[in-house]
Amino acid sequence: MTVKIAINGYGTIGKRIADAILKQDDMELVGVTKFTPDYTVMLATQKGIPVYTEESRVEDFKKKGYEIAGTLNELFENVDLVIDASPGKVGAKNKEIYEKYGLKAIFQGGEKEKVAEASFSSLCNYEDGLGKKYLRVVSCNTTALCRLLCTLRKNFAIGRVRATLVRRAADPREYKKGPINAILLKPVKLPSHHGPDVQSVIGKDLDIVTTAVVAPTTIMHTHILNIELKDQVSVDDIIDVLKKEPRIMLVNSEKHGIVSTSQVIELGRDLGRPRYDLYENIVWEDSISIVNGELWLTQAVHQEAIVVPENIDAVRAIMELERNPAKSIEKTNKSLGIMGGI
Ligand code: NAD
Repeated sequence: MTVKIAINGYGTIGKRIADAILKQDDMELVGVTKFTPDYTVMLATQKGIPVYTEESRVEDFKKKGYEIAGTLNELFENVDLVIDASPGKVGAKNKEIYEKYGLKAIFQGGEKEKVAEASFSSLCNYEDGLGKKYLRVVSCNTTALCRLLCTLRKNFAIGRVRATLVRRAADPREYKKGPINAILLKPVKLPSHHGPDVQSVIGKDLDIVTTAVVAPTTIMHTHILNIELKDQVSVDDIIDVLKKEPRIMLVNSEKHGIVSTSQVIELGRDLGRPRYDLYENIVWEDSISIVNGELWLTQAVHQEAIVVPENIDAVRAIMELERNPAKSIEKTNKSLGIMGGI
Protein backbone atom coordinates (compact mmCIF):
# COMPACT_ATOMS: atom_id res chain seq x y z
CA MET A 1 0.00 0.00 0.00
CA THR A 2 1.16 3.54 -0.75
CA VAL A 3 -0.26 6.30 1.39
CA LYS A 4 -1.16 9.63 -0.22
CA ILE A 5 0.14 12.53 1.84
CA ALA A 6 -0.25 16.31 1.90
CA ILE A 7 2.08 18.55 3.89
CA ASN A 8 0.32 21.63 5.20
CA GLY A 9 3.02 24.25 5.87
CA TYR A 10 6.23 24.17 3.86
CA GLY A 11 8.65 25.89 6.26
CA THR A 12 11.67 24.66 8.22
CA ILE A 13 10.11 21.34 9.23
CA GLY A 14 7.64 20.86 6.35
CA LYS A 15 10.22 21.03 3.58
CA ARG A 16 12.48 18.52 5.33
CA ILE A 17 9.62 16.07 5.88
CA ALA A 18 8.68 16.51 2.21
CA ASP A 19 12.18 15.51 1.07
CA ALA A 20 12.15 12.54 3.45
CA ILE A 21 8.81 11.33 2.07
CA LEU A 22 10.23 11.42 -1.47
CA LYS A 23 12.73 8.80 -0.27
CA GLN A 24 10.06 6.32 0.98
CA ASP A 25 8.68 3.57 -1.26
CA ASP A 26 5.46 3.24 0.74
CA MET A 27 4.50 6.95 0.66
CA GLU A 28 3.40 9.36 -2.06
CA LEU A 29 3.71 13.11 -1.61
CA VAL A 30 0.66 14.47 -3.42
CA GLY A 31 1.49 18.09 -2.63
CA VAL A 32 2.54 20.76 -0.17
CA THR A 33 0.87 24.04 0.73
CA LYS A 34 2.46 27.46 0.60
CA PHE A 35 1.05 30.67 1.99
CA THR A 36 3.76 33.11 0.90
CA PRO A 37 5.03 33.27 -2.67
CA ASP A 38 8.80 32.89 -2.39
CA TYR A 39 11.69 30.95 -3.94
CA THR A 40 10.80 27.73 -2.09
CA VAL A 41 7.79 27.34 -4.42
CA MET A 42 10.17 27.31 -7.37
CA LEU A 43 12.54 24.81 -5.74
CA ALA A 44 9.65 22.51 -4.77
CA THR A 45 8.32 22.60 -8.33
CA GLN A 46 11.79 21.79 -9.69
CA LYS A 47 11.83 18.70 -7.45
CA GLY A 48 8.47 17.63 -8.87
CA ILE A 49 6.54 18.53 -5.70
CA PRO A 50 3.15 20.09 -6.57
CA VAL A 51 2.46 23.28 -4.59
CA TYR A 52 -1.06 24.26 -3.52
CA THR A 53 -2.36 27.42 -1.89
CA GLU A 54 -5.54 29.08 -0.66
CA GLU A 55 -7.93 30.09 -3.45
CA SER A 56 -7.57 33.77 -2.53
CA ARG A 57 -3.78 33.62 -2.96
CA VAL A 58 -3.53 31.80 -6.31
CA GLU A 59 -3.33 35.04 -8.34
CA ASP A 60 -0.62 36.40 -6.05
CA PHE A 61 1.58 33.38 -6.72
CA LYS A 62 0.88 33.45 -10.46
CA LYS A 63 1.76 37.18 -10.67
CA LYS A 64 5.23 36.34 -9.33
CA GLY A 65 5.58 33.61 -11.93
CA TYR A 66 5.15 30.64 -9.56
CA GLU A 67 3.38 27.47 -10.67
CA ILE A 68 0.41 26.50 -8.53
CA ALA A 69 -1.11 23.01 -8.85
CA GLY A 70 -4.43 23.94 -7.25
CA THR A 71 -6.23 25.06 -4.12
CA LEU A 72 -6.10 23.59 -0.62
CA ASN A 73 -9.52 22.00 -1.14
CA GLU A 74 -8.31 20.22 -4.27
CA LEU A 75 -5.30 18.88 -2.37
CA PHE A 76 -7.21 17.70 0.70
CA GLU A 77 -9.78 15.88 -1.47
CA ASN A 78 -7.02 13.70 -2.90
CA VAL A 79 -5.05 12.50 0.13
CA ASP A 80 -5.34 9.98 2.99
CA LEU A 81 -3.25 11.90 5.49
CA VAL A 82 -2.09 15.44 6.24
CA ILE A 83 1.18 16.22 7.98
CA ASP A 84 0.58 19.60 9.57
CA ALA A 85 3.82 21.60 9.76
CA SER A 86 2.21 24.99 10.20
CA PRO A 87 3.49 27.45 12.83
CA GLY A 88 2.90 26.43 16.48
CA LYS A 89 -0.79 26.65 17.59
CA VAL A 90 -2.01 27.03 13.97
CA GLY A 91 -2.28 23.24 13.62
CA ALA A 92 -5.05 23.12 16.22
CA LYS A 93 -7.07 25.52 14.05
CA ASN A 94 -6.28 23.54 10.90
CA LYS A 95 -7.66 20.43 12.60
CA GLU A 96 -11.20 21.67 11.81
CA ILE A 97 -10.34 21.45 8.09
CA TYR A 98 -9.02 17.91 8.44
CA GLU A 99 -12.14 16.90 10.35
CA LYS A 100 -14.26 18.30 7.51
CA TYR A 101 -12.43 16.13 4.97
CA GLY A 102 -12.35 13.09 7.28
CA LEU A 103 -8.55 13.05 7.07
CA LYS A 104 -6.04 11.58 9.47
CA ALA A 105 -3.43 14.11 10.59
CA ILE A 106 0.01 14.26 12.18
CA PHE A 107 0.75 17.46 14.15
CA GLN A 108 4.06 18.87 15.37
CA GLY A 109 5.42 19.73 18.79
CA GLY A 110 4.31 23.36 18.68
CA GLU A 111 0.76 22.14 19.31
CA LYS A 112 -0.66 21.32 22.72
CA GLU A 113 -0.81 17.66 23.76
CA LYS A 114 -4.61 17.61 23.50
CA VAL A 115 -4.57 18.28 19.73
CA ALA A 116 -4.03 14.54 19.16
CA GLU A 117 -4.97 11.18 20.64
CA ALA A 118 -1.31 10.42 21.41
CA SER A 119 2.07 12.15 21.57
CA PHE A 120 4.57 10.15 19.54
CA SER A 121 8.25 9.29 19.76
CA SER A 122 9.41 6.28 17.70
CA LEU A 123 11.78 4.65 20.20
CA CYS A 124 9.32 5.03 23.09
CA ASN A 125 5.75 4.43 22.01
CA TYR A 126 5.41 3.58 18.30
CA GLU A 127 2.60 1.15 19.16
CA ASP A 128 0.52 4.00 20.68
CA GLY A 129 0.36 5.55 17.21
CA LEU A 130 -1.06 2.48 15.45
CA GLY A 131 -4.30 3.26 13.65
CA LYS A 132 -4.90 6.58 15.44
CA LYS A 133 -6.72 9.41 13.70
CA TYR A 134 -4.55 12.20 15.11
CA LEU A 135 -0.95 12.00 16.33
CA ARG A 136 1.46 14.64 17.60
CA VAL A 137 5.18 14.20 16.98
CA VAL A 138 6.73 15.90 20.00
CA SER A 139 9.12 18.86 19.67
CA CYS A 140 12.83 18.72 18.87
CA ASN A 141 13.92 18.96 22.51
CA THR A 142 11.34 16.45 23.69
CA THR A 143 12.21 14.04 20.87
CA ALA A 144 15.88 14.14 21.90
CA LEU A 145 15.04 13.61 25.59
CA CYS A 146 12.59 10.79 24.82
CA ARG A 147 15.03 8.95 22.53
CA LEU A 148 17.79 9.07 25.10
CA LEU A 149 15.63 8.15 28.09
CA CYS A 150 13.80 5.31 26.33
CA THR A 151 17.09 3.85 25.10
CA LEU A 152 18.43 3.94 28.67
CA ARG A 153 15.19 2.61 30.20
CA LYS A 154 15.17 -0.40 27.86
CA ASN A 155 18.53 -1.44 29.33
CA PHE A 156 18.79 -0.03 32.86
CA ALA A 157 16.57 0.93 35.78
CA ILE A 158 16.64 4.69 36.08
CA GLY A 159 15.17 7.00 38.68
CA ARG A 160 14.82 10.77 38.67
CA VAL A 161 15.88 12.76 35.63
CA ARG A 162 17.03 16.38 35.82
CA ALA A 163 17.87 18.26 32.66
CA THR A 164 19.08 21.75 31.84
CA LEU A 165 18.40 22.84 28.28
CA VAL A 166 20.32 25.57 26.49
CA ARG A 167 17.95 26.40 23.68
CA ARG A 168 18.83 27.97 20.35
CA ALA A 169 17.17 31.37 20.03
CA ALA A 170 15.92 30.98 16.46
CA ASP A 171 16.41 28.90 13.34
CA PRO A 172 19.12 30.18 10.97
CA ARG A 173 16.62 31.76 8.56
CA GLU A 174 14.62 33.60 11.25
CA TYR A 175 16.23 37.04 11.02
CA LYS A 176 13.62 38.83 13.15
CA LYS A 177 14.13 36.87 16.41
CA GLY A 178 16.49 37.31 19.38
CA PRO A 179 18.05 37.43 21.95
CA ILE A 180 21.16 38.87 20.28
CA ASN A 181 23.40 39.48 23.28
CA ALA A 182 21.85 37.85 26.33
CA ILE A 183 21.06 34.56 27.97
CA LEU A 184 17.34 34.57 28.49
CA LEU A 185 15.81 32.64 31.40
CA LYS A 186 12.85 30.93 29.78
CA PRO A 187 11.21 29.99 32.04
CA VAL A 188 12.49 31.78 35.16
CA LYS A 189 10.49 29.50 37.45
CA LEU A 190 10.84 25.74 37.33
CA PRO A 191 9.88 23.64 35.49
CA SER A 192 10.14 24.22 31.74
CA HIS A 193 7.42 22.57 29.65
CA HIS A 194 9.82 19.91 28.35
CA GLY A 195 9.51 17.60 31.38
CA PRO A 196 5.70 17.33 31.18
CA ASP A 197 6.04 16.94 27.41
CA VAL A 198 8.36 13.95 27.89
CA GLN A 199 5.79 12.54 30.33
CA SER A 200 3.12 12.85 27.61
CA VAL A 201 5.09 10.14 25.76
CA ILE A 202 6.73 8.05 28.47
CA GLY A 203 4.17 8.40 31.25
CA LYS A 204 3.60 10.41 34.42
CA ASP A 205 5.53 7.88 36.50
CA LEU A 206 8.81 9.23 35.09
CA ASP A 207 10.23 11.66 37.65
CA ILE A 208 11.61 14.37 35.39
CA VAL A 209 12.23 18.08 35.99
CA THR A 210 13.65 20.31 33.28
CA THR A 211 14.71 23.92 33.10
CA ALA A 212 15.89 25.98 30.15
CA VAL A 213 17.68 29.11 29.06
CA VAL A 214 17.77 30.59 25.57
CA ALA A 215 21.19 31.45 24.12
CA PRO A 216 22.06 33.67 21.12
CA THR A 217 22.76 30.80 18.73
CA THR A 218 20.79 29.45 15.79
CA ILE A 219 22.39 26.10 15.03
CA MET A 220 21.62 23.64 17.83
CA HIS A 221 20.19 23.11 21.30
CA THR A 222 22.37 21.60 24.03
CA HIS A 223 21.12 19.48 26.96
CA ILE A 224 22.95 18.69 30.17
CA LEU A 225 21.34 15.66 31.80
CA ASN A 226 21.60 14.14 35.23
CA ILE A 227 19.94 10.73 35.64
CA GLU A 228 19.70 8.57 38.74
CA LEU A 229 20.87 4.99 38.10
CA LYS A 230 19.19 2.32 40.17
CA ASP A 231 21.56 -0.47 39.05
CA GLN A 232 25.30 -0.91 39.34
CA VAL A 233 26.23 0.37 35.89
CA SER A 234 29.56 1.48 34.43
CA VAL A 235 30.32 4.27 31.97
CA ASP A 236 31.26 1.58 29.42
CA ASP A 237 27.85 -0.09 29.85
CA ILE A 238 26.15 3.23 29.01
CA ILE A 239 28.44 3.83 26.02
CA ASP A 240 27.78 0.31 24.66
CA VAL A 241 24.02 0.82 24.81
CA LEU A 242 24.07 4.29 23.22
CA LYS A 243 26.47 3.12 20.48
CA LYS A 244 24.00 0.43 19.42
CA GLU A 245 21.16 2.94 18.85
CA PRO A 246 21.46 4.43 15.33
CA ARG A 247 19.43 7.53 16.26
CA ILE A 248 22.10 8.47 18.77
CA MET A 249 25.55 9.47 17.50
CA LEU A 250 28.49 9.56 19.88
CA VAL A 251 31.22 12.11 19.31
CA ASN A 252 34.39 12.31 21.34
CA SER A 253 36.21 15.54 22.13
CA GLU A 254 39.63 13.89 22.16
CA LYS A 255 39.28 11.45 19.27
CA HIS A 256 37.23 13.71 16.96
CA GLY A 257 38.28 17.12 18.28
CA ILE A 258 34.63 18.17 18.64
CA VAL A 259 33.93 20.40 21.64
CA SER A 260 31.22 22.73 20.28
CA THR A 261 27.93 22.78 18.41
CA SER A 262 29.59 24.65 15.53
CA GLN A 263 31.92 21.69 14.96
CA VAL A 264 28.96 19.32 15.13
CA ILE A 265 27.30 21.28 12.34
CA GLU A 266 30.54 21.16 10.35
CA LEU A 267 30.41 17.38 10.81
CA GLY A 268 26.92 17.40 9.26
CA ARG A 269 28.34 19.31 6.30
CA ASP A 270 31.33 16.98 5.97
CA LEU A 271 29.05 13.94 6.08
CA GLY A 272 27.32 15.44 3.02
CA ARG A 273 23.96 15.58 4.76
CA PRO A 274 21.27 17.56 2.89
CA ARG A 275 21.06 21.06 4.47
CA TYR A 276 23.68 19.63 6.95
CA ASP A 277 20.76 17.87 8.68
CA LEU A 278 21.72 15.82 11.71
CA TYR A 279 18.81 13.54 12.53
CA GLU A 280 20.60 11.97 15.49
CA ASN A 281 21.03 13.03 19.14
CA ILE A 282 24.69 14.02 19.28
CA VAL A 283 26.01 12.76 22.62
CA TRP A 284 29.54 13.58 23.77
CA GLU A 285 30.99 10.17 24.67
CA ASP A 286 33.51 11.70 27.05
CA SER A 287 30.83 13.74 28.84
CA ILE A 288 29.32 10.47 30.07
CA SER A 289 30.21 10.21 33.74
CA ILE A 290 28.81 8.44 36.77
CA VAL A 291 29.12 10.34 40.05
CA ASN A 292 27.65 8.77 43.21
CA GLY A 293 25.20 6.66 41.21
CA GLU A 294 24.16 9.54 38.98
CA LEU A 295 24.72 9.55 35.24
CA TRP A 296 25.74 12.85 33.66
CA LEU A 297 25.93 13.53 29.95
CA THR A 298 25.72 16.33 27.41
CA GLN A 299 23.99 16.14 24.05
CA ALA A 300 23.40 18.50 21.14
CA VAL A 301 20.20 18.58 19.10
CA HIS A 302 19.80 19.84 15.54
CA GLN A 303 16.35 21.32 15.95
CA GLU A 304 15.57 21.60 12.25
CA ALA A 305 16.17 17.91 11.52
CA ILE A 306 15.66 15.68 14.55
CA VAL A 307 11.88 15.26 14.22
CA VAL A 308 12.03 14.25 10.53
CA PRO A 309 12.59 10.48 11.05
CA GLU A 310 9.92 10.46 13.77
CA ASN A 311 7.41 11.99 11.32
CA ILE A 312 8.16 9.23 8.80
CA ASP A 313 7.64 6.55 11.47
CA ALA A 314 4.47 8.33 12.59
CA VAL A 315 3.07 7.97 9.06
CA ARG A 316 3.71 4.20 9.13
CA ALA A 317 2.11 3.91 12.58
CA ILE A 318 -0.99 6.04 11.97
CA MET A 319 -1.67 4.37 8.59
CA GLU A 320 -0.68 0.94 9.95
CA LEU A 321 1.74 0.50 7.05
CA GLU A 322 4.05 -1.27 9.48
CA ARG A 323 2.99 -2.61 12.88
CA ASN A 324 6.50 -3.55 13.96
CA PRO A 325 8.33 -0.46 15.35
CA ALA A 326 11.81 -1.88 14.72
CA LYS A 327 11.03 -2.50 11.04
CA SER A 328 9.72 1.02 10.46
CA ILE A 329 12.62 2.60 12.32
CA GLU A 330 15.14 0.55 10.35
CA LYS A 331 13.48 1.44 7.03
CA THR A 332 13.44 5.14 7.91
CA ASN A 333 17.05 5.06 9.09
CA LYS A 334 18.19 3.40 5.88
CA SER A 335 16.34 5.86 3.68
CA LEU A 336 17.83 8.89 5.48
CA GLY A 337 21.35 7.55 5.95
CA ILE A 338 21.07 7.36 9.75
CA MET A 339 23.86 5.01 10.79
CA GLY A 340 24.61 5.95 14.39
CA GLY A 341 28.34 6.51 14.41
CA ILE A 342 30.75 8.54 12.35
P1 NAD B 1 8.01 27.69 10.00
O1 NAD B 1 7.51 29.03 10.38
O2 NAD B 1 9.40 27.56 9.50
O3 NAD B 1 7.06 27.05 8.91
C1 NAD B 1 5.65 27.09 9.00
C2 NAD B 1 5.09 27.20 7.60
O4 NAD B 1 3.66 27.17 7.69
C3 NAD B 1 5.46 28.52 6.91
O5 NAD B 1 5.92 28.23 5.61
C4 NAD B 1 4.15 29.31 6.90
O6 NAD B 1 4.02 30.14 5.77
C5 NAD B 1 3.12 28.18 6.82
N1 NAD B 1 1.77 28.58 7.28
C6 NAD B 1 1.36 29.81 7.71
N2 NAD B 1 0.04 29.75 8.01
C7 NAD B 1 -0.38 28.49 7.77
C8 NAD B 1 -1.64 27.84 7.88
N3 NAD B 1 -2.72 28.48 8.31
N4 NAD B 1 -1.72 26.52 7.56
C9 NAD B 1 -0.61 25.85 7.12
N5 NAD B 1 0.60 26.43 7.00
C10 NAD B 1 0.72 27.74 7.32
O7 NAD B 1 7.77 26.76 11.28
P2 NAD B 1 8.57 25.44 11.62
O8 NAD B 1 9.78 25.79 12.37
O9 NAD B 1 8.67 24.57 10.42
O10 NAD B 1 7.58 24.78 12.69
C11 NAD B 1 6.47 24.01 12.31
C12 NAD B 1 6.03 23.17 13.48
O11 NAD B 1 7.09 22.29 13.83
C13 NAD B 1 5.70 23.96 14.76
O12 NAD B 1 4.70 23.27 15.46
C14 NAD B 1 7.00 23.89 15.53
O13 NAD B 1 6.83 24.07 16.92
C15 NAD B 1 7.45 22.49 15.20
N6 NAD B 1 8.89 22.27 15.33
C16 NAD B 1 9.78 23.22 14.94
C17 NAD B 1 11.13 22.98 15.09
C18 NAD B 1 12.15 24.00 14.72
O14 NAD B 1 13.18 24.04 15.37
N7 NAD B 1 11.93 24.82 13.73
C19 NAD B 1 11.58 21.77 15.61
C20 NAD B 1 10.63 20.78 15.93
C21 NAD B 1 9.29 21.06 15.81
